[in-house]
Amino acid sequence: MSITPLTSVSDTPPGVPSLDALETNVPSLMPPVVRENPRAHEDSCTFRHRMHQWHRKRVIAAFERIMAHESRVLAYLGCGSGAWVMYDPSEPGKFALRSDTCHDRWCPACGKQRAMVIRANLEPLLAGKTVRFITLTLKHDDDTLRHKLDRLHQHFSALRKLAIWTDHVDGGVAFLEVKKSDATGRWHPHYHIVSVGKFVKQEQLRDAWLAVTGDSHVVDIRVVKDTAQVAGYVTKYCTKPAPNELFRDDAGLDEAIIALKGRRLVTTFGCWRGTRLCKNDTLRDWVPLMPWPDLLKRCRMGDTEAIAIYKAITRDSWVADDTDVDDSRAPPF
Ligand SMILES: [Zn+2]
Repeated sequence: MSITPLTSVSDTPPGVPSLDALETNVPSLMPPVVRENPRAHEDSCTFRHRMHQWHRKRVIAAFERIMAHESRVLAYLGCGSGAWVMYDPSEPGKFALRSDTCHDRWCPACGKQRAMVIRANLEPLLAGKTVRFITLTLKHDDDTLRHKLDRLHQHFSALRKLAIWTDHVDGGVAFLEVKKSDATGRWHPHYHIVSVGKFVKQEQLRDAWLAVTGDSHVVDIRVVKDTAQVAGYVTKYCTKPAPNELFRDDAGLDEAIIALKGRRLVTTFGCWRGTRLCKNDTLRDWVPLMPWPDLLKRCRMGDTEAIAIYKAITRDSWVADDTDVDDSRAPPF
């Protein structure tokens, strides 16, 4: 699978788009959001986060409560700014936006982009292999999230040194997810693992996990039936590090943001160790066409070509830039 978050614009003629102003207006073709509110999405930050406003507001409020570093807050607030429309000179009719991005683990837009890149980079590693999902959890107790995350990391490292693991698991990637029980207020961090290798009995892996943790025996192993399952799995655990419930819990969200500081959310191991799953050069050879506000202006003038480009970009996932969205390295915050 290549990284193809873009869609052909069927009514755009081949070749580099000219975007010459048209003599006639075609209001009926105006994108509704522009027609109804000419100022809408003028700010490309708003456009980038149009599907994630609720999460974004919650995180910004949390940053304020925990007094997050100013540089982090500014990067978060500026994610999506300075957007340019880009086109692919080798494939006429394909468009994307490039902008500043924050790469913050609590940014759903960057998370969605990260998931897309990881999915694309995983596909060749999984081709022809039997893939298994493994979930490792710790026993429920009243321990702090910070301590639980320390333990989970240490125990997973210890497990990977045991013969039961090295004899059966060739390599893989582990995604860290944090949950908190509404009922008990207890933290439940998990590792969700995509792995390749041989069949391993659940009982054997459970016993090994109990041996290294001393108190935890819940291990889930599932064989993956098709690559769509992997795509869904990766999307689910890469887009954001916690489920929606945590974003409604101010104290919980604050604790999670602090406890995850500097921790890896994506860890490769075994024969995949060192694989750069977040490597992204999607827009490497793409060419800037015009600033985002200029495209909107042309849309408002009824420029059908600009409208077609707008629709393509709106329909498709955002590809922000061609720098790596690397989350395998622990960030400085
Ligand atoms: Zn972002």
